[in-house]
Amino acid sequence: MEIKSYQVGEIGTNCYFVLDGETKRGCIIDPGDDGARLIEEWEKTGYSLSAILLTHGHYDHTTALPELTAAYPSVPVYVHREDVCERGQPAFYQCMPSGNVHYIKEGDTVAVGGIVFTVLETPGHTPGSVVFQTKDALFTGDTLFAGSCGRVDFPGGDWGAMCASLRRLASLPGDYRIYPGHEWTSTLENERQGNPYVRSALQLGQA
Ligand SMILES: [Zn+2]
Ligand SMILES: [Zn+2]
Repeated sequence: MEIKSYQVGEIGTNCYFVLDGETKRGCIIDPGDDGARLIEEWEKTGYSLSAILLTHGHYDHTTALPELTAAYPSVPVYVHREDVCERGQPAFYQCMPSGNVHYIKEGDTVAVGGIVFTVLETPGHTPGSVVFQTKDALFTGDTLFAGSCGRVDFPGGDWGAMCASLRRLASLPGDYRIYPGHEWTSTLENERQGNPYVRSALQLGQA
């Protein structure tokens, strides 16, 4: 499994390519912007695109989606239903994405060649935020960052839910590499030890 990351858009969202060298298949997680560049980078890999995964529906993680689904119309897009707006919902949410959309929920799996992602529902930043878990990697979107967590003051944000989600991630057995939606990578153990939001969520859980 190879992971490449690209910072896209004005606020530097992390878009990830996850590549399975054995089957030459891969996926794109959070195509936040710069669609033409992402398509160019994807074509350079020579891999076939099996899926587009969205950690949540905010524009800074989804803006390039229409360009990608136009370029790769048969590729399935996986997103939690709670983060897709039907009509008249807050503008922070991506409108119904066009293309081959699949709604995901807790415990679902998405296979990309030989890589299998498991969906963990982690509401708090948005109601439909998810974490994608595979092998020793967690793609945490805007739920867990290195040293912090996502904001909960946008429409649909919920601090209590965020605390429960952080507790849940912290109590996964073993260690993982963390690939967040913004800024730098980390490990779950680093965040258990040093992330003040994770620590206070764990303390609240004990109270
Ligand atoms: Zn967000
Ligand atoms: Zn974001």
